[in-house]
Amino acid sequence: MKTARSEALFERAQSIIPGGVNSPVRAFRGVGGAPRFIVRGEGSRVYDADGNEYIDYVCSWGPLLLGHRPPQVIAALREILEEGTSFGAPTEREVLLAELISQTVPSMEMVRLVNSGTEATMSALRLARGFTGRDLTIKFEGCYHGHVDSLLVKAGSGMATLGIADAAGVPPAFAETTIALPFNSIAAVEAAFKTHGDKIASVIVEPVVGNMGCVPPSPGFLEALRDLTARHGTLLIFDEVMTGFRLALGGAQARFGIKPDLTTLGKIIGGGLPIAAYGGRKDIMRKVAPLGAVYQAGTLSGNPLAVAAGLATLCHLTAHPEIYDLLETRSAQLALLKTMTPPGVTINRAGSMFTLFFSSDPVTDWESAKRCDTARFAKFFHFLLERGIYIAPSQFEAGFVSAAHSEKDISATVDAAREFFKAGG
Ligand SMILES: *Cc1c(COP(=O)(O)O)cnc(C)c1O
Repeated sequence: MKTARSEALFERAQSIIPGGVNSPVRAFRGVGGAPRFIVRGEGSRVYDADGNEYIDYVCSWGPLLLGHRPPQVIAALREILEEGTSFGAPTEREVLLAELISQTVPSMEMVRLVNSGTEATMSALRLARGFTGRDLTIKFEGCYHGHVDSLLVKAGSGMATLGIADAAGVPPAFAETTIALPFNSIAAVEAAFKTHGDKIASVIVEPVVGNMGCVPPSPGFLEALRDLTARHGTLLIFDEVMTGFRLALGGAQARFGIKPDLTTLGKIIGGGLPIAAYGGRKDIMRKVAPLGAVYQAGTLSGNPLAVAAGLATLCHLTAHPEIYDLLETRSAQLALLKTMTPPGVTINRAGSMFTLFFSSDPVTDWESAKRCDTARFAKFFHFLLERGIYIAPSQFEAGFVSAAHSEKDISATVDAAREFFKAGG
C-alpha cells in the first residue's frame, strides 16, 4: 500500500500544527506511521491522498450514522448555501431542530444549541452548579466528556491512549471539584454521596461508554445513579454526545428507560457538521441566560449550515426508524467475530458501537480496559489498515457501524480479522 503522499503531508503538517493534527486521536500515536490524509468519503468508504480505499469504521468518530455524503444532507446543504452561511440572529430551522430533538428525546424539554460536545458538557456542568448552588461533580474513570478543564480527570479517549493521567494546565482547584469513580460501581457512588452528600451538583456519565472502548453499563447501574441523584437533590447528566441518535432514536435513555435531568448531544445531530446541544428539565433550563444568570453564548451557535445538515439527518432518521434494525443486524454480523476468535479476545458491543479488546477477562471499567494488550491491538490495527479497513488506532475508542455499511463490507472485515488470528496475531 502506497503512503508517500500522506507521509509528505504529515511531515509538513507536523512543522506547523502540533503533532500534525487538529485533534490528538488522529495522530496514530502509539501505533506508529503517518495518519492517512483523507481526500474523499462516500457511503461506507474513505479515500486517502495516495488513492487507497478503506471501509471506514471511524465514521468521523461517531457523527456519520448515515455514512459519508448521504444525499439528504448534501441536498440540504446545497439549499442553505443559497440563503447564507451565518446571521447571528434566530432562524426557523433552529426552532425545528430543537423541536425535533425534544420530541425524540422527551427529557429534553428545552434545548440550547452549541458548537461542540465540549461546549455542551461544559455548559451542562455550569448549569447544574448554578441551579443547585453546589460545586462538586461526579464523573467516571475512562469516560471522556470533551476537553472541559474540570472533566480532564482520569479521562478516556486520547488522554487514555497517550497515557496522560493529569492534564497540564488544569488548576488543581478545578480538578478538585471533580470526584472520579469507577464506572459500574454502585458502591463507590453510594460512598461518595455518604461523604459529600449535599455538595454534589451533578453526576455526569456516558450511559454506554465509548471513550475507553465500548463498555456498556452493568444491569442496575444507571438505575442506581438515577435513584441516588434524585434522593440527594443532585442533577443526573447523561452525556449522549456519542450515544444520542445512535443507540436508538431517543438515545441510551430511551434504550434503558431512564430520564436524566440534563442531556448533552453532539456528533450525529450535526450530520457531519459542527453542532451540539444541551437540554433538559424546563425549570433547570430556565436558569440559562437571557432567562437566568447562568451565562452561555456563541457567535456561531445554531449555525445555518450545521443546523440544516443536522435537521436533514434527524428528519431522515425519524422518518426511517427501521435504520436502527438495519444497524443492529449489521453490527450483530460484525460481532459474530467473537465466535471465531482464539482465547484472549473480548468484543464489547452496544447497538452499532463496538470495541475488540485483547483480554481474556470481561472489560467492564477503566481498570479492566487498561489491563488489555494494547501492543497487540496496534498490530491488529495495522493489519486491518493494510487491507483497506480503517478502525480507530486505539483500543480506547469505539468503532462505529453506519447505515451505509453493506453486508459485504462487514463480511470482508470479519474475514480480514480472522486472517489476523489465523496468522497467529
Ligand atoms: C466526542 C465526545 C465529546 C466531545 O465532543 P467534541 O465535539 O469533540 O467536543 C463529549 N462527550 C462524549 C461522550 C463524546 O463522545
